Amino acid sequence: MSLEPARVGECDTPFCEGAAETITPNGYVCSSCAAKIAVASEQAHERDTRGER
Ligand SMILES: [Zn+2]
Repeated sequence: MSLEPARVGECDTPFCEGAAETITPNGYVCSSCAAKIAVASEQAHERDTRGER
């Protein structure tokens, strides 16, 4: 990818020491945390669209 990170640092997820690579609504996180956040937000979105409580 040609996209350069704005800064190089550590993952914003508590207790995770991975290298931050991806910007998400939850902060600047490593790729594995970004994947978890993506899955979690997808599940939340699914719940919203179905109207389940
Ligand atoms: Zn992480």
